[in-house]
Amino acid sequence: MSRRSLLTIDDIDRAEIARILRVGNRFAEVMQRDIKKVPTLRGRTIINMFFEASTRTSTSFELAGKRLSADVVNVKGSGSSVEKGETLKDTVITLNAYAPDVLVIRHASVGACQMAARFTDAAVINAGDGKHEHPTQGLLDTYTLAEAKGRLDDFNLKGLKVAIVGDIASSRVARSALAAFTTLGAKVVCVGPPGMVPRGFEALGATVGGSLDDVLAEMDAVMMLRIQFERHGDGKTPAPAGAEAPKASPIASVREYREFYALTPERAAKMKKGAIVMHPGPINRGIELDEAVADGPRSVIMRQVTNGVLVRMAVLRWCLGA
Ligand code: ASP
Repeated sequence: MSRRSLLTIDDIDRAEIARILRVGNRFAEVMQRDIKKVPTLRGRTIINMFFEASTRTSTSFELAGKRLSADVVNVKGSGSSVEKGETLKDTVITLNAYAPDVLVIRHASVGACQMAARFTDAAVINAGDGKHEHPTQGLLDTYTLAEAKGRLDDFNLKGLKVAIVGDIASSRVARSALAAFTTLGAKVVCVGPPGMVPRGFEALGATVGGSLDDVLAEMDAVMMLRIQFERHGDGKTPAPAGAEAPKASPIASVREYREFYALTPERAAKMKKGAIVMHPGPINRGIELDEAVADGPRSVIMRQVTNGVLVRMAVLRWCLGA
């Protein structure tokens, strides 16, 4: 049986992204049924390894595996031998002895999934490695944008403009979403305070800079990002185990941040007709995104959550060549 890992969006080209999303769209039909289960991965074993906090990604990977009829096992950082000091390498070698077909890994260190892939015969899916990538989030964001804009037939996003707003430097979602959006033809602009928007994103195909108020009216979608205080070190939240040492906060104050970069109802009113609001979650309501916008008519945030299951089902199927 062929096995393929998904470590970064760069592992899949435009045609493969569209193929995975098309399969996701077929699973959308299964999700409408009373019994949301297909036999695609019956007899296969998936181990979900989450060494960093997660609600959406871990739940949707577990549901995705179960709805494909695979045997799914969940290992968390807390409560496992990681707490006793076992390394990621030893954990992977140990779990590999159970002959899993797929390891889904979230870890605080950039490159953890690449490293893990060297010590297992299973396909590895990166479910978020530090500030680096979160490829299945990029795919589900792309699916949700295509769905909202009526592009589920060809997943061609040409002509669409997307703003990614906020703490881009800390965001693995920003990297993966940017790669997926631009590969399918959308134009992306990255907006945020200078300390949060690396110029290097230009080399990745985005336009960098400008203020939210300058670009808002032209955008078809605005993806708001959480300020990842735990990755800056705010003096209160400890950095996750294995994460880079915290640096000084890239913003002077939350109040000042909100003045320029929060999506308030007043700002959302300036968005063009049919433009959507996205957020990978968790939302810090009242910081980057206000209640009325998060739960308002432009918001597709719950579509992102729902679509996470079917896109991850398609990715699991792709990994196992089923
Ligand atoms: N849930 C996303 C992630 O794991 C975004 C976030 O935490 O703000 O990267």
